[in-house]
Amino acid sequence: MKVMKFGGTSVAHASNINKVIDIILDAHKKGDSLIIVVSALSGITDDLVMLANLASKKDVKYKIIFKAICGRHDQTIKELIVSKNQEKVLLEINKKYDELERIVKNIFEKELSKQMLDAVMSFGEQLSSYIIGEAIKERSFQCEFVDSRKVIKTDGNFGNANVDIEKSYKLMSDCLKNKKLSIMGGFIASTEDGMTTTLSRGGSDYTASLVGAALDADVIEIWTDVDGIMTEDPKKMKNALLIPEITYEKAEEMAYNGAKVIHPKTIRPAVLKNIPIYVKNTFNPTGSGTRISNGKK
Ligand code: ADP
Ligand code: ASP
Ligand code: MG
Repeated sequence: MKVMKFGGTSVAHASNINKVIDIILDAHKKGDSLIIVVSALSGITDDLVMLANLASKKDVKYKIIFKAICGRHDQTIKELIVSKNQEKVLLEINKKYDELERIVKNIFEKELSKQMLDAVMSFGEQLSSYIIGEAIKERSFQCEFVDSRKVIKTDGNFGNANVDIEKSYKLMSDCLKNKKLSIMGGFIASTEDGMTTTLSRGGSDYTASLVGAALDADVIEIWTDVDGIMTEDPKKMKNALLIPEITYEKAEEMAYNGAKVIHPKTIRPAVLKNIPIYVKNTFNPTGSGTRISNGKK
C-alpha cells in the first residue's frame, strides 16, 4: 500500500494533471494499492480566501473572483474529460459552485467567521479531488472517490483543527482497506457534527501521512515541484543541494523552521508507524528524491 500526495503546482492545470495521472498509473500497473491525496489547483486556496474576504467587506468584486475560480475548474474539466462523462462532471461541479455561492452570499450579508472561512477554503480540495478522480476514470481505470471530511474527524479549532487520531484511523481504515485505487482531497476534514474544518495551510502533506499511518502503508510519497528536500529553499538559493536521505527528526526540524516543502505535522504519524516518506518531483519523476526515515537501513 502506497500513499501518493500531489501538491498545488503538480495539479495546477490539465497538462500537469496528465503528468500526475501518468505517475499514478505507472505505480498502479506495478500492482501497488494506491491512495491518492491531492491539493487544490495552485493558487485556488488563496483565491478562495480572497473571495471570502471581499464578500465580508461587502465588496461586489467577490463576484469576479468567484467567476474566475469556476472558469479555471471548467477549463480543466473540458481539457481532461472529453468523453460523454463530461456532462455529468460539469453538472456535479455546478452543484459545488452553487453551494459555494450560497456560503459566500451568506458571508456578504452577515459576517465572516473562522468556520465560514474553512467551509469556503475546503472547495479547492473538494473540486480538485473530484475532477482528478474523474480524469483517472477517463483513462479507463477504476478510481474510488473518498470525501476526506467523512473519514478525518477533528475538533472545532477552525483553520488549524486537531485530528481525533483514533476515530479517524478507524474510519480511514474501514473505508480504504482492500481498495486498489482511491482519491481524496488533502487539507480538509470535519467535526463530529459535520462542520467542515481545515488542517492549516499546506496541510495536505499531513493528510497524506495520516492516511499512510491509518492504513499501515509501506511508503508515503510527497510529490511536489522540486527534486526533494534541499539544503535551502531552491527558489531563493540557486546553489541549494538535494539531501538524498534525512532522519525524521532533522526533516521535522527543517519543516518547523520554515522549509515549506513539507508541512511540519507530516512527520509524527509516519514516525509512530515507522513508515518512510519520500519527497519527489512531479516534473522529474525518475529523480531519486529525498528519503525521510529513522536512518536505519
Ligand atoms: P506543494 O504545493 O507541492 O505542497 P509547496 O509550495 O508547499 O509545494 O512546497 C514546495 C516548495 O517548498 C518548493 O517549491 C520550494 O520553493 C519550497 N522550499 C522551501 N524550503 C525548501 C527546502 N529546504 N527544500 C526544498 N524546497 C523548499
Ligand atoms: N490547498 C491548501 C493550501 O494551499 C493545502 C495544501 O496545498 O497543502 O494551503
Ligand atoms: Mg505544500
